[in-house]
Amino acid sequence: MRILISNDDGYLAPGINALAEALATVADIVVVAPDSNRSGASNSLSLDRPLSVTKAANGFYFVNGTPTDCVHIALTGMLDTRPDLVVSGINNGQNMGDDTLYSGTVAAATEAFLFGIPAIAFSQVHSGWSEIESAARVARDIVLRRLDALESPFLLNVNIPNLPYEQMGPLTPTRLGRRHQSEPVIRAQDPRGREIFWIGAPGACRDAGEGTDFHATAQGQVSLTPLQVDLTHREQLQLLRDSLQ
Ligand code: MN
Repeated sequence: MRILISNDDGYLAPGINALAEALATVADIVVVAPDSNRSGASNSLSLDRPLSVTKAANGFYFVNGTPTDCVHIALTGMLDTRPDLVVSGINNGQNMGDDTLYSGTVAAATEAFLFGIPAIAFSQVHSGWSEIESAARVARDIVLRRLDALESPFLLNVNIPNLPYEQMGPLTPTRLGRRHQSEPVIRAQDPRGREIFWIGAPGACRDAGEGTDFHATAQGQVSLTPLQVDLTHREQLQLLRDSLQ
């Protein structure tokens, strides 16, 4: 099995190192990841400048671009062979509910999915890298599971509790929850007295009921949500058709 690994925290992040180490024991891996932290980059592509790929001492490739740039470059010309699977992460913190729209971790996996390759995004529920080795073991377990029952290509969003491996709950299929709107922007002054704004924290859970990613991880379970890209709202489409008749 050939696996392409990327992330949004950058090629030096502990999460991608732990993931690569765990997967190297069971697959041929190649790592192509951003040169710096691009969390929140979503599905952005860099179209206004060239991108360079550099090989680090440990064999990882790093790119002066977004997570989506990395996977796009790898799949459209950089790699000689097409990977069987693309994995992203392990992210420094959760990507649940609405987070999936902003996440560069999910975006890297989504880019592979758009090219017809099965893809999995991995995130730890809490940032700070506690129990990252345990999360990497869980990620390897999931990669080794027979996911053939799923329609290929699939796009899976996985959130892993920061627990020791022995205390980890079961793999649990979930749907995305929803958050309240984000916390307000933080207004401040830069050292020259100019007004600046920092984007605020994500909102608290609004829909964290049974069956959601929020609910499963709160029970110590590993949340697996199958995602799709089509954002069409079917009921609204019908209402729109009716109203325009
Ligand atoms: Mn990140």
